[in-house]
Amino acid sequence: MEWTRSETLALAQQSCTFCHGLGLRPGRAGSSAPCNCVFRAIFRACYTRFIKCTSKEKYVSRVSLEANPGRLRKSVWGLKNEEFIADFCLVSRRVLDEQQYKLFKFHFLLGADWKLCCRRLNLDRGEFFHEVYRIQQKLGRAFRELEPYALYPVDEYFAGPTREKARPVTIFPVETEKPPQAKPVLTFPVRRAA
Ligand SMILES: [Zn+2]
Repeated sequence: MEWTRSETLALAQQSCTFCHGLGLRPGRAGSSAPCNCVFRAIFRACYTRFIKCTSKEKYVSRVSLEANPGRLRKSVWGLKNEEFIADFCLVSRRVLDEQQYKLFKFHFLLGADWKLCCRRLNLDRGEFFHEVYRIQQKLGRAFRELEPYALYPVDEYFAGPTREKARPVTIFPVETEKPPQAKPVLTFPVRRAA
């Protein structure tokens, strides 16, 4: 997948002190990378949808007929809400390390507040919120870059697997445009010594 400037710009936090609302921060070798505030925004969008899916009554779940772009082109019945819940949990389990997953489980899945988490995991308030930020950033990126069907954008996920084909994962740094080269205003003929 590729990141675009318009996407990072739309997701950036206006008050972010790192990217100042642009959604990009300097990467390696003159390129740019999405700012962490962009990853956190993606996480929040997915988490909001996760909460919505889990709080629905069982009978409300939508069964949808999805076109399968595979070889046999058979359509399949899918339970989108359940799939989203499962993907959200499985990706988080896979991406986070042991310690981070514990915090994620207590705070995001079981709804424990910071005080309870700090007591349980032996963290102070600062450590807790730093770790929450790191988890949100790690997962936001994973949810967006997941192949072939990313969890984000959420609307596309729920629209079903209609995209033509999976694209290979690209390693991030987005190429930034090169700054315009200033042309010399005056040129002088070079006189060579005879
Ligand atoms: Zn930012």
